[in-house]
Amino acid sequence: MLLDNDVREKLSQYLQLMENDVLIKVSVADDPASHQMSEFVRELADLSAKIHVKETALARVPSFSINKVNQDTGITFAGIPLGHEFTSLVLALLQTSGYPPKIDASLVDQIKNIKGPFNFETYVSLTCHNCPDVVQALNIMSLLNPNISHTMVDGAIFKEEVEAKNILAVPSVYLNGEPFSSGRMELEEILAKLDIKPDLTGVEAKEPYDVLVIGGGPARTSSAIYAARKGLRTGLLAEKLGGQINDTFGIENFISIKYTEGPTLAANIEEHLRSYDIDVIKLQKVKTLKKADLIEIELVSGAILRSKTVIVATGARWRNINVPGEAEFKAKGVAYCPHCDGPLFKGKNVAVIGGGNSGVEAALDLAGLASHVTLLQASDKLTADEILQSRVYSKENITVITNAKTTEIFGSEKVQGLTYLDCLQNEQVKLAVDGIFIQIGLLPNTEWLQDTLDLNAFGEIVVDKYGATSIPGVFAAGDCTDCPYKQIIISMGAGANAALSAFDYLIRN
Ligand SMILES: Cc1cc2nc3c(=O)[nH]c(=O)nc-3n(C[C@H](O)[C@H](O)[C@H](O)COP(=O)(O)OP(=O)(O)OC[C@H]3O[C@@H](n4cnc5c(N)ncnc54)[C@H](O)[C@@H]3O)c2cc1C
Repeated sequence: MLLDNDVREKLSQYLQLMENDVLIKVSVADDPASHQMSEFVRELADLSAKIHVKETALARVPSFSINKVNQDTGITFAGIPLGHEFTSLVLALLQTSGYPPKIDASLVDQIKNIKGPFNFETYVSLTCHNCPDVVQALNIMSLLNPNISHTMVDGAIFKEEVEAKNILAVPSVYLNGEPFSSGRMELEEILAKLDIKPDLTGVEAKEPYDVLVIGGGPARTSSAIYAARKGLRTGLLAEKLGGQINDTFGIENFISIKYTEGPTLAANIEEHLRSYDIDVIKLQKVKTLKKADLIEIELVSGAILRSKTVIVATGARWRNINVPGEAEFKAKGVAYCPHCDGPLFKGKNVAVIGGGNSGVEAALDLAGLASHVTLLQASDKLTADEILQSRVYSKENITVITNAKTTEIFGSEKVQGLTYLDCLQNEQVKLAVDGIFIQIGLLPNTEWLQDTLDLNAFGEIVVDKYGATSIPGVFAAGDCTDCPYKQIIISMGAGANAALSAFDYLIRN
């Protein structure tokens, strides 16, 4: 039995929602991976009378496609979609059976009008929590448009392909055989990359808001919900939805939920947000903020929105180390997310740069997969919590090197190693590694506010206890501010605080 009782039970509950019959076409040979896939498909079919199975020849062996009875969908899984891809499997089955995908009607039309032919392939690892979003978005596109097909490829099974393509980060998407994208993407972002832009007609004509929230993470959610609950006309502008929690694996400190995972929390947050009357404008980056009679927000697209108050919640992003080779080898051995890309370095030598909590956690995580991990810290000691430090020093396959400033990342097609300055000996040392995980903290997303709001030396927006900034009517919350601790629950609290302050400001002005 491949499916354990828990998974079987969950699956059979979901499969009861199937509306019509589906046909799974399976392509297998006489090898262990094929035997596993045959067994998996058989177990699936045993769970619902609506699932039929037929053997066929597909491009990859083993793989299976999920189809309507009289029409192929183009959705193929080259690998067994369990782990983080379990939801992708369930959705593919339900949606193929007729259950409508939960996307805006305008997107459905846009996808149906794509000319193609577009053959997408997404290389994933089953432990990657960013991969399912891409797989599910491309499956929906494949289902809605016969000129589009999509195959999820499990890199652990198709190792030779992964090696040949030098794939060192997942999800890695190929379009018609050429690299298309790397990293998490939403459906709208995929469409934008195909040059199918969101329809912004009408944005300029929007009535001014009472509160306009800028950002896509936890802080903007609580801001927007608190503002909407006060009956304020609330707008929300986000470049990407989810924020940093999309890069977070296990979350154990979001009080009231003992354990959750970033994408699950992000999905719950979106659902909560959708239950309020909030005007959400997605995939839009803000360029400038100007105070006139109202506050004017100019988007990168050129459109201008107006609001009586604004809450900035633009958060933070991974800090780059800015040495030669970093940009060149991104996704070719230079990585930032150990949970996503760690499995691609199984049995290999890796380095982690950064001796704070995230660096040490990454080293501990990778030590379970890689043959050896070198943890490099620029200063003379690690700064991670004591408990993490003692764990890292107790691991036989982790070497900690302090006083080591990385000066270069080198390689040819992919990373071959790095050079660091041994600050004690004052000499450059070369270290041969296959992968380099950069974990040196975060940078606030506030460059666009440099000439507008008071920022501190780290570029963080200076706020008072009300979340008020240096411009009356402009408030800020979360990781983009100078609040000392950057956490989900703190950002959410700060977002609520800023919304209540905006409300207070509106009744006084
Ligand atoms: C790997 C990792 C693990 C973590 N683990 C935990 C944990 O276990 N527990 C915990 O409490 N915290 C954790 N954190 C911290 C937590 O995720 C952050 O504190 C929290 O997400 C901050 O929320 P935020 O809304 O302020 O900003 P963010 O989450 O950074 O969101 C900011 C959003 O604004 C958008 N944006 C940026 N610029 C613009 C612009 N110009 N225009 C429009 N939109 C823009 C971005 O695209 C993004 O969606 C972790 C962080 C990381 C990176």
